[in-house]
Amino acid sequence: MKIKFTRRERDCLEQINNEGRVTLVRLSKDLDVKSPTAHSIVKRLIEKGVVSRDKNNAITLTTFGERNVARIIFRHRVLETLLARNGVNVNDACAECRKLDFLVSDKVANELFEKLREPRLCPHGLPIRIQQNSANTV
Ligand SMILES: [Zn+2]
Repeated sequence: MKIKFTRRERDCLEQINNEGRVTLVRLSKDLDVKSPTAHSIVKRLIEKGVVSRDKNNAITLTTFGERNVARIIFRHRVLETLLARNGVNVNDACAECRKLDFLVSDKVANELFEKLREPRLCPHGLPIRIQQNSANTV
């Protein structure tokens, strides 16, 4: 099943992926939003089945969430590679791709990946095809 995310949800997923386990307080600080906002983002992500909250209030990705993060990272790194190979500064490419990576279809990302001759690494030197649980940062 394919789910759509907003930019804030995407950033929230990235943060949870980077940290492994987070609290709501930590998330609201990291995302620079007020805690009710962080709460409502997390609530939506729980409803989408990508995030769960345990009895200690620690927020983690579900397996389905990890899969979705892996998809976003793949799309991010493919787009980033495309821009960087066409002369865009790597950091600018990375920042731009954060605005797009969660919106681009898997179909187009896969086509681009093939056109780019299936690069192994993104311009940051990170693997484009990632294993779940070793996604790290975009
Ligand atoms: Zn990047």
